[in-house]
Amino acid sequence: MAKVKILGSAYATPNPKHENTHFALQGSHGTILVDCGANPTVRLERAGIPFDSIDHVIFTHFHPDHVGGAPLMLMNMWLMGRTKPLNIYGLGHCLRNLQLLMEMYDWKMWPNFYPVSWHAVADGEDQLLYDGEDFHITSWPATHFVPTLALRIRDKPAGRVLAYTCDGSPCDSINRMAVGANTLLHEAAGEGFGHSSALQAGQLAGRVGVEVLYLVHYDVHLGDQRNSGQSETEMIASARINFGGRVEIAEDFTEFEI
Ligand SMILES: [Zn+2]
Ligand SMILES: [Zn+2]
Repeated sequence: MAKVKILGSAYATPNPKHENTHFALQGSHGTILVDCGANPTVRLERAGIPFDSIDHVIFTHFHPDHVGGAPLMLMNMWLMGRTKPLNIYGLGHCLRNLQLLMEMYDWKMWPNFYPVSWHAVADGEDQLLYDGEDFHITSWPATHFVPTLALRIRDKPAGRVLAYTCDGSPCDSINRMAVGANTLLHEAAGEGFGHSSALQAGQLAGRVGVEVLYLVHYDVHLGDQRNSGQSETEMIASARINFGGRVEIAEDFTEFEI
């Protein structure tokens, strides 16, 4: 049975209990990693995910809290003896910048580096990003500060759908992406251009009628009024104003089925 394993749940600034938002999609045939703001090696081990089970990595956008750990992850895979290919997916903007970043590390000089395939996804709604035995994933534009992907992830054996908003303020593309989803994983960094609040997450969840709403990418430094500044209890209460289903806070190492 496929599982979503949250490896980090914080917005841009982490704390000891919350790493930057990233997660793994663990199916029967392998694992897909979505973002890595920090080096995921330790997080994956703690979540019981073998490092070499990752053959696909999706980078949603080129912000440090989502790609900052990529160079270390790529290097760690090499140092741990990886020989099989790694597939990397994202928008052209993100992939180009990531390649430039790796060139600054002279990674072409690292001997016997495993093959990396870059898969640039087209910028637009409902673009096929990945289709495998466990998951079918399409990408949708989010309204954020740089080109950003939201993801509609179908667990193929279970026939259930997870909608992941990634970072972004409410927009038509995200509204359409979430239609018919069973589970909504929604950011809650706070209201304002480029981000959303728990209240806005609840509005979308209520409108499209998902079964469960998980809040992620939230402020873990309470009292920071630049962002949500809400406690977990307050976030849940805000989301429930417009949504009668189950609301959960996605914490680091939270696991759920789609
Ligand atoms: Zn972010
Ligand atoms: Zn961002």
